[in-house]
Amino acid sequence: MINVFQPALGADELAAIGRVFQSNWLGKGKLTAQFETDFATHLGVERNLVRSVNCCTEGLFQAIEVLGIGSGDEIILPTISFVGAANAIAARGAVPVFCDVDRRSLNATPETIAAKLTPRTKAALILHYGGLPGDLDGMHAVASGVGITLIEDAACSVATRYKGRGAGTIGEIGVWSFDAMKILVTGDGAMTYWNTPELAQRAEELMYLGMTTKSGFTTSVDTRWWEFDISCYGRRSIMNDISSAMGLEQLRKLPDFIRRRREIHERYDALLADLPWMELPPPVPAEAESSYYFYWLQMAPDIRDRLAGWLRERGIYTTFRYYPLHWVAHYGAKISLPAAEEAARSTLCIPIHQSLTDNEVAEISDRIHEFGRLHV
Ligand SMILES: *Cc1c(COP(=O)(O)O)cnc(C)c1O
Repeated sequence: MINVFQPALGADELAAIGRVFQSNWLGKGKLTAQFETDFATHLGVERNLVRSVNCCTEGLFQAIEVLGIGSGDEIILPTISFVGAANAIAARGAVPVFCDVDRRSLNATPETIAAKLTPRTKAALILHYGGLPGDLDGMHAVASGVGITLIEDAACSVATRYKGRGAGTIGEIGVWSFDAMKILVTGDGAMTYWNTPELAQRAEELMYLGMTTKSGFTTSVDTRWWEFDISCYGRRSIMNDISSAMGLEQLRKLPDFIRRRREIHERYDALLADLPWMELPPPVPAEAESSYYFYWLQMAPDIRDRLAGWLRERGIYTTFRYYPLHWVAHYGAKISLPAAEEAARSTLCIPIHQSLTDNEVAEISDRIHEFGRLHV
């Protein structure tokens, strides 16, 4: 089976984990601090604005909680979003307000966000579909124009840049995921960015039991180092040095990962350009750099469904991300969002990951052409 997503882990990560075993400190320690430092450098932001967290979903929950969002508040998010984003909002008693997306990029736009603003709107929580940023300046202007926070779910945009800045650092809060299906992989793990040290500090306390003082291993010579106070009823949402050891190795390799993904993206662009019955992903705008997390095809809905099944029977896995949240019955959103609905019926994500070989890319293209000759 050719996977849609696949991690690229090897001897370097294994050796790094081995060193953690030898150090006898498996928990959150020096390596996690180093990973935060290196990730901040990668983003081009100050070190003390970045905090690691055990997964990106938890980072989204933290963002909503740190902002003090609660009952009666509304948060706008594209309906083509990760389910955890809407859960983070609804779990606090706030209302996830789903907005439409651009049919081709599947990203929210300044217009689709503006269309859902009310006096109760407290934030907009956007994502960069497949690592491709939308009109971030435009969306940020809409948010700051009415004094609401822009949260960027940059889960799959680990190397995405917009006008030279790291995606996830354009708005006030950003989150990145390193789960098993992402580009940079640590098993589970994530990073968060907060645009003020105060927000970052509040998040840190929430992520570690509400502790206002550092606990754990200490070289302090103070007496009674076991005493503490808390600032809130915090959870324990931390990364550990095993995951961070992997993360440090993966971060070093990230430029190579992205180069390979871009190469595959361009190969698909060339190989599939002659198929009149489908549209290829929109080009990356001049002001942006993508992470190339998805490669998505768009075609008539009945063809999309048949192509997915046909490829799967031939060992090529595909999928669609993200199933529109206004179609998830539990949220009870009885609305229509035409562009997102059209995209959800016509879009198919085909395999793209840094371990995909040229032969596999050629095989996928050949199979799609074969399907076209037989069934379109
Ligand atoms: C994967 C993903 C998440 C969740 O990340 P976890 O680390 O698995 O919690 C959130 N948002 C988007 C857009 C994602 O793709």
